[in-house]
Amino acid sequence: MSNTAVSIATALTSGTAGLGALNDDLSDLRSFEQSFALSPEEARDFGPDGFSDFDLMAFNARFETAPAEEIIAWAAATFGPRMCLTTSLTDALLVDLAWRVDPSIEIVFLDTQYHFPETLATLEVVKERYHPNLRVLRPDFEPDDLWQIDTDLCCKRRKVQQLDGLLDEKDAWMTGVRRADAPNRADTAIVARDGRGLIKVNPIATWTDAQVDEYIARYDVPVNPLVAQGFPSVGCWPCTRAVADGEDARAGRWSGTGKTECGLHL
Ligand code: SF4
Repeated sequence: MSNTAVSIATALTSGTAGLGALNDDLSDLRSFEQSFALSPEEARDFGPDGFSDFDLMAFNARFETAPAEEIIAWAAATFGPRMCLTTSLTDALLVDLAWRVDPSIEIVFLDTQYHFPETLATLEVVKERYHPNLRVLRPDFEPDDLWQIDTDLCCKRRKVQQLDGLLDEKDAWMTGVRRADAPNRADTAIVARDGRGLIKVNPIATWTDAQVDEYIARYDVPVNPLVAQGFPSVGCWPCTRAVADGEDARAGRWSGTGKTECGLHL
């Protein structure tokens, strides 16, 4: 047991008189633990299991007010090709950010075979403008009508299983999820361990809608034409409607079904 741990144990057995010392020692312990937060080189050796929950807390504290570019640069340096970025192409903001930081970051688009023509057109614009390190995943089966009877299973087959297959070869992935997207995303961490055990990085988790609009205008970022038609969150055409003024951005996704997520963001 370390000296710090011994003194904490002593304080715990010495009643209230030891509480001041205990607080000091806990502070020491946090500093001690923080000194062991992984460097990019160490994380590369250890993979996602190399990050303790304390490491993730420390990174979140550090990144809460950091520019998105700094978070992306850290993730790219830490995980390299063992990380990819997924985009739904409602807009290309995260693609633009990542491209400015490191054009080699792998971009992944899940083609469910049910995308709006406008989304597929946006994909072509992104290819032309950024020439990204792009991987488009498509199901190896034909379109069907499963979405009419079981949206969870349809999402699982056309989205989740495709992404899971890709993530089998990754340690981390990056998404454009924001806390402002919807109430069920309000607690989104910047760096988290997902349900697969991988590290999930959300560099714009803290961004407001106004920040998004400002960045898109400043860098003339490609935006899906459907956004201007009342679709602030664009998914598959059978499961996405335009939203009315005042509705949540994601209110048009699986509207009226109670479903709010496709299952990618475990
Ligand atoms: S969003 Fe709809 S069409 Fe797209 S994969 Fe899910 S259920 Fe199927």
